[in-house]
Amino acid sequence: MSQPSTLHDLIRTLIAANHILHHHNIVDGFGHISIRHPDSLKETYIMPGYLAPALVHCADDLIEYHISDGSPVDPNAKKGYSERFIHGEIFKRFPGINCVIHSHSEAVLPFMIAGVPMRPAFHMAGFLGTEVPMFDITKLYEPGDQQDMLVNNTKFGSALASHFASGTANLTSPLPDHLVVLMRHHGFTTLGESIQDAVYRAMYTQTNASILSTAANLRSSFHGSALLREPEAVHGSDGSGLDLLSASETAGCRNMNEATADKAFRLWVREVEVLPLYVNELAEK
Ligand SMILES: [Zn+2]
Repeated sequence: MSQPSTLHDLIRTLIAANHILHHHNIVDGFGHISIRHPDSLKETYIMPGYLAPALVHCADDLIEYHISDGSPVDPNAKKGYSERFIHGEIFKRFPGINCVIHSHSEAVLPFMIAGVPMRPAFHMAGFLGTEVPMFDITKLYEPGDQQDMLVNNTKFGSALASHFASGTANLTSPLPDHLVVLMRHHGFTTLGESIQDAVYRAMYTQTNASILSTAANLRSSFHGSALLREPEAVHGSDGSGLDLLSASETAGCRNMNEATADKAFRLWVREVEVLPLYVNELAEK
């Protein structure tokens, strides 16, 4: 996949990605996307300050943070997101990841609340893999902590980042084993080697959740109690009676997803370019 090569191009794409994620209800007034600084020697990342994603419009809206501890490079930087530690700790754990997205998607949240596993329901969501981990911050709270679900320090961020790896054998891997982690009572986080990859995964995590919810409701309505009598499933299913992607289909679709993410991204950029709500001062005229 082609990737912007200069900081200017990356920031232009980052601003566009903020608008895309808002336009498609991945984020509202909250939620955020970040990029690793392209100069690897800097060991910093860049994300919007405390500003609704739809309103991000220029480089001055962004803040650069140290990956090591989440502190701003400019000590006088404007207010930032308390949840920037989601991003910094993922960049720290996975050197091959260059973009992180955090969302409170209303389509995804019911899966954690209902205790229903997220599985790929169609070919555009093969990147979900055969397991989508769930992060439960509650287990990390200590007496006196404000239990607001926010990942607002390096301890919580590091624990979330660890959920993208399958186990200790992958501690040194530059890339994660999982591309999406659900967050109990909160939302989800995804990532990518490029902005385009991460946006694709955020978009189709939400779409997959909607399709899976519709299918589950449809099957329940149509079959009713038959679901209880026939737990054995059609191929690829997990016993729910839903016809989900099999493991081999999931792997094949993931490869296809990674080869095609940039095509959709060009459409999504154009969609927000023509809407007056979204202003990108770095956009090509
Ligand atoms: Zn959040």
